[in-house]
Amino acid sequence: MAELSCDVLVIGGGATGVCAAYDAARRGLRVILAEMNDLSTGTSGRFHGLLHSGARYAVRDPESARECILENAILRRIAPHIIEDTGGLFVAVPGDPADYVPRWLEACAAAGIAAEAITVREARRQEPALSPALVHAFRVPDGAVDGFDMAHAFTRAAEDYGATTLIYHEVTALNVGSTGVMATLQDRRSGEEKIVSARWVINAAGPWAGKVAALAGYALRVAWSRGAMIAMNTRWVNTVINRLRPPTDGDILVPVGTVSVIGTTSIPVERPDDNTIEPWEITALLDEGEAIIPGFRQARALRAWAGVRPLYEAEAREGITGRAVRRTFDVIRHAPGLTTVVGGKLTTARLMAEKAVDDVCAGLGIEARCTTADEPLPGDHPRRLHMLGSRLDALEHGRMPGPLICECEMVTQAQIEEAIAAYARPPALDDLRRDLRLGMGPCQGGFCAVRAAGIVQRACNLDAAAATAALRAFVDERFKGGRSLLWGHHLRQFLLDEMIYRRTLGLDRLTGAPPAVRDAPLPAWAADRRPVSSSAQGRRVIVIGAGMAGLMAALHAVRAGAQVHVIAAGIGRLILAPGWCDVGPFHDHPGVRVFLDWCTDHGVRPLAGGPAMLGTRPAVSWAGDGEMLIVGFASWRDFYPMLCAGNLARQGIPARGIHVDLPRRHDGWDLSPTRLAHCFDDPAFREEVARLVKGRLRDEARVGFPAVLGLRDPAVVQRELAEQIGRPVFEIPTLPPSVPGTRLLNVLKGWLLRQGARVQIGHAVTRPVVEGRRVVGVAVASVGRETVFHADAVILATGGLYGGGLLSDDRGRLWEPIFDLPVQAQTDRLAWFNTDLLDLRGHPAHTFGIAVDEYLRPLGKDGTPAYENLFAAGHILGGMDTLIGGCEEGFDLASAYTAVREALGND
Ligand SMILES: Cc1cc2nc3c(=O)[nH]c(=O)nc-3n(C[C@H](O)[C@H](O)[C@H](O)COP(=O)(O)OP(=O)(O)OC[C@H]3O[C@@H](n4cnc5c(N)ncnc54)[C@H](O)[C@@H]3O)c2cc1C
Repeated sequence: MAELSCDVLVIGGGATGVCAAYDAARRGLRVILAEMNDLSTGTSGRFHGLLHSGARYAVRDPESARECILENAILRRIAPHIIEDTGGLFVAVPGDPADYVPRWLEACAAAGIAAEAITVREARRQEPALSPALVHAFRVPDGAVDGFDMAHAFTRAAEDYGATTLIYHEVTALNVGSTGVMATLQDRRSGEEKIVSARWVINAAGPWAGKVAALAGYALRVAWSRGAMIAMNTRWVNTVINRLRPPTDGDILVPVGTVSVIGTTSIPVERPDDNTIEPWEITALLDEGEAIIPGFRQARALRAWAGVRPLYEAEAREGITGRAVRRTFDVIRHAPGLTTVVGGKLTTARLMAEKAVDDVCAGLGIEARCTTADEPLPGDHPRRLHMLGSRLDALEHGRMPGPLICECEMVTQAQIEEAIAAYARPPALDDLRRDLRLGMGPCQGGFCAVRAAGIVQRACNLDAAAATAALRAFVDERFKGGRSLLWGHHLRQFLLDEMIYRRTLGLDRLTGAPPAVRDAPLPAWAADRRPVSSSAQGRRVIVIGAGMAGLMAALHAVRAGAQVHVIAAGIGRLILAPGWCDVGPFHDHPGVRVFLDWCTDHGVRPLAGGPAMLGTRPAVSWAGDGEMLIVGFASWRDFYPMLCAGNLARQGIPARGIHVDLPRRHDGWDLSPTRLAHCFDDPAFREEVARLVKGRLRDEARVGFPAVLGLRDPAVVQRELAEQIGRPVFEIPTLPPSVPGTRLLNVLKGWLLRQGARVQIGHAVTRPVVEGRRVVGVAVASVGRETVFHADAVILATGGLYGGGLLSDDRGRLWEPIFDLPVQAQTDRLAWFNTDLLDLRGHPAHTFGIAVDEYLRPLGKDGTPAYENLFAAGHILGGMDTLIGGCEEGFDLASAYTAVREALGND
């Protein structure tokens, strides 16, 4: 067991602990800092980001207010690189208590906080998103501070003065004796123990301070107050905005990098790590945001988190709780050798550290005074403020070489590789997230997480299992922050991410127990297998939706002789799906058979089996055997052959991954799968690829490429490549846009147009035109006016929650926006999804949809068909988890077929 010794052992790598380590080290003490997780992963990594001016506390807690304004100035001086000088505004809206304003102004003046009155017009000139209804506005010296940067900056400074930092080291035992303290530290990663003998211990364990004191046998009651915050998708404001009223929920909006964070709430809790978020908190925060910024609650909420305030309980025992507990801090000497520092704010962490180290020095009889406020932190500290504007500028002007890995936050491969090189060991994807904001934008890592895993694997020579586990950990962590915000666009985003992780990548099956084989029961409408009538001459059919179900419904109606008009807001998820045709229990449904025959006739076969992008074992049996060569392209961001081959190999399927250079120089940072597929349409390009691959071939029996082998005539491309390489070739799904899906979309759409169908994509149907119990037409939004199209039958194929056929809001409301059909779903929004995005059981939300009768007629509120001639197809139908049931395409194909048969035979 390793034994270490020091003068001061600091427990806790949050803001207080790192400041204490720096202070003690500067005073010449030998310091060890022990943190049980990574730095700043306690409250200091789950806070609001506000560098307080103190104005928030001026009325109720003047002592805290004074501490804040003084420390605000000191932090700006000694660590300017961790602060963005946003300034702050206090604003009042109608209804905020008018008598608070003079009291607040007086209290600010008494605390030494400059509060400058400005006109509402000036405030709105500075921050145009603010409500025109404001009644007061004052400027104060607030700012934004980065908790992670702060922890790293102070730790580095402490190390410059000789301190040692031990992260992932939990203090598990403390023995305070007359000559010092013996502490047992457990390395949480290796399980090994270390003994540290220290002359003194500073307990800076924040919400865990009571637990740490108890290790030494001392009682310390910490009151825990949890608060929730939401990061909104954009920087609504560039200034911190505070509500000018006595502190309550949702008072503050802080611009943080590319987003803005609204917070917080204050709820007494029973545990230091209780980070749950209740739905009412989300709604309350959005409502408060809306009061100062009209339109706020319509915006996209990206991520929510909660932190627990460590409030010293001496006051709580006197009946003071929640927001009323002072936000100043306490330094408690339990016995010679053990001092706790607790309470306060991140803004006042330096001062808290100063007082704690003063106590240690007094105890040890050391004269050294605190000098941490005297000069800037040692060393060079480049500013790391992350602004999308400057990243875009650098990207577009060639200062940030591509490829672009995280499109939302504009992070390139070169930046990731540079960040990786700075670590002594392979970084977790979360480290890269904190360093570069990777995966923190609207898609929450849906696209960039696997790319980053592939880059880390290559750069650090990791095996595929480790890289895949790192990816899974990142995905799980991202979902924790998103789960309480799943409605509207964000819900659609996570459904897309989930589809990518499960289907395109196969991540759930690689990292979880194999799914139980289950034969999902077929819905009642699927039982009847009669053919579609072929005598619908002249009948007008409107199909709403252009996904797989909509386009196939159009195809069946055209083949039956109907006059077909497809109207869709977008192109559905065909171009996002990996390209397989998963039919599950619908395998012998005529809708599936007709589709597959049609595909054969038109040269657009779906992908046939084969591994998923991460090399997950094929779900269905797959022709051919022998070793595989998996080919990727150097610096192409959407396919990682080493990951694919490594995972195949560890599942017992022999495979080897290689990268070859792309033949032509591709300077662009966003070479999409479809653009690459266009390159393969060029014979010279594919000949060059074939030559490069052939030169690297060993004994492999077949060659797997990312699914980009041609858009125009993929059969020819694949045949020629196979001939030139001398081995059969096959395609493996890549990140979207999906080339197999795009091929199918193009061919289907082209065929429909040639058959005389009208295909109108990009126009949303707004309402039905109804006569009695019949839909006689639909209205379509177009520029300046509404256009009505008439129909004898209407097929509703607008998709489910992902497709936009069902809408949802933060209050848990779900609705079908065109016909206002009732939606079958759970009402408790938090129950829509399980806690784990890749839960092998799927999620209740997958089954939400409208109810239909056996003829696929949507049911109205009274449980009978809403209209005689309205039919539904595809994922707007509820009741079946097609993702988990392995029948995403089968469900669309079968329901499209049945809906058209009923629509044309029912008049
Ligand atoms: C919702 C919310 C919003 C806030 N907003 C702001 C704000 O905008 N501005 C502001 O100035 N302040 C804010 N605060 C307050 C501020 O975040 C905290 O006061 C501050 O972060 C506390 O820092 P700390 O170092 O004392 O505790 P922490 O950051 O929690 O650090 C304690 C550390 O001790 C470690 N630890 C615990 N037990 C052990 C052990 N046995 N061995 C080793 N390590 C251990 C933990 O892992 C943890 O990392 C906010 C707080 C909350 C909850």
